[in-house]
Amino acid sequence: MMNIDKDQAVVIGGGAAGMMAAAAAAENGRPVILLEKNEKLGKKLYITGKGRCNVTNACERDKFFENIVSNPKFLYSAFHAFDNKRLEMFLEENGCYLKEERGERVFPASDHASDVTAAFERFLRKRGVQVRLHSAVREIKTDGEKITGVILVDGSVIPAGTVIVATGGLSYQSTGSTGDGHRMARELGHKVTDCVPALVPLETEEDWCKKLQGLSLKNVSLTMTCGKKKLYQGFGEMLFTHYGVSGPLVLSASSYLGKRKVADVAVLTIDLKPALSEEQLDKRILRDFEENRNRQFKNALGGLYPAKLISVMIERSGIDPEKKVHEVTKQERRRLTELTKAFTLQVRGKRGFEEAVITQGGVSVKEVNPSTMESKRIRGLYFAGEVLDLDGLTGGFNLQIAWSTGYLAGSSVKSASKDVPPLDRTPRSTRFASQITFTQENAKVRHSPQKNQKGRGSDGI
Ligand SMILES: Cc1cc2nc3c(=O)[nH]c(=O)nc-3n(C[C@H](O)[C@H](O)[C@H](O)COP(=O)(O)OP(=O)(O)OC[C@H]3O[C@@H](n4cnc5c(N)ncnc54)[C@H](O)[C@@H]3O)c2cc1C
Repeated sequence: MMNIDKDQAVVIGGGAAGMMAAAAAAENGRPVILLEKNEKLGKKLYITGKGRCNVTNACERDKFFENIVSNPKFLYSAFHAFDNKRLEMFLEENGCYLKEERGERVFPASDHASDVTAAFERFLRKRGVQVRLHSAVREIKTDGEKITGVILVDGSVIPAGTVIVATGGLSYQSTGSTGDGHRMARELGHKVTDCVPALVPLETEEDWCKKLQGLSLKNVSLTMTCGKKKLYQGFGEMLFTHYGVSGPLVLSASSYLGKRKVADVAVLTIDLKPALSEEQLDKRILRDFEENRNRQFKNALGGLYPAKLISVMIERSGIDPEKKVHEVTKQERRRLTELTKAFTLQVRGKRGFEEAVITQGGVSVKEVNPSTMESKRIRGLYFAGEVLDLDGLTGGFNLQIAWSTGYLAGSSVKSASKDVPPLDRTPRSTRFASQITFTQENAKVRHSPQKNQKGRGSDGI
């Protein structure tokens, strides 16, 4: 006979990681209760990918890890246990068909993030997971060594031998991720590393950014340095805002600022013409100047820069705007070339958690077993998703962290009523995995021949 209390697995948090953990634990034969404080599951998922939810990235393993910023090695086992291909398979088999877009980003074919949550809801229902909404957990109970249950904010107690904490980080707190998991982990003796916003816009010292508000620069190269140290270099798109800069390049750069307290020592250098060497650019400017030699300098830059940027370039070049182009000296032209190749901005700081896509920092991975996601301190306590000190770049990598760690935590839970090996054990159940394991070959076969659309599966696993 199953000892229900001890065998019961409670998952705290019905976001991406929690839904996946509950699905995997239920598939592992455990009675599962999924507790979510919001009125619905997956509240943050609804706003991901601008409502389209970039569920994962279809890249190969090596590229996946290149896109993980904090503690990539800790993720090896989790990604091995449940990688991007398995996630695609799982979603399609549960009715959420997928498509792949630029940069190997994978989205629901419908462009509706709600389809992802619906797929999980179907699966959880089929596997008998008890989903309790409006159920905020206040405290995790232990007997000092192992888990005994949880206490909700209304005072009710749910006995359990396993608790999986999947409460998310601190960003976009209106979605429910308010750091409860960090507090609960600390109360149980876990170290929580400093948390800072990441994938977040940056504030700059230059107040003329305001003038450029709304200007988007495409195909530029951005380098971020701190003293002599290069922290980030990327190519793509960025945007000026009233406080500084944003857009994909800047968000990625922000993740490499790390936990530096003095963000203002960081400098952003934009190469506005990365396809041209300095010499090529100088020739190009010379050509433009030849064609416009009798115009005023301020009216000769339309071919080089977007209209909004011209006045700032003139100001920063120090060249008299009223000057005729043929009067611009070689030295001045040289300055303009250099400015175009290295347009700098001084970073003052990051925007806050309310604008951050992700939280950097969280439950220290040093105290969590990477092969099971179980705490090394308390038996039966597991962590999954953004609550952990793990984060990646944009492109579906953060959700894949949630799916992989959620799966590994859920599939690792053991029957607490049976004898269990010591805490730092490594084996994990493969039952759920074995049912949805598929080879690269049959993955291709299962994928629809329809262009850019992933294949349809049955609605079970
Ligand atoms: C605007 C935005 C867009 C994004 N777009 C993408 C994207 O397209 N692709 C991508 O890969 N990543 C994206 N991300 C990041 C991604 O959403 C997160 O990495 C991911 O949701 C983390 O999942 P999680 O389950 O760990 O945490 P969350 O999704 O935050 O879920 C945690 C859940 O726990 C619940 N909870 C918290 N405390 C308690 C408690 N005490 N009791 C009960 N329940 C509790 C919360 O209500 C919440 O539902 C985006 C993030 C934002 C903010």
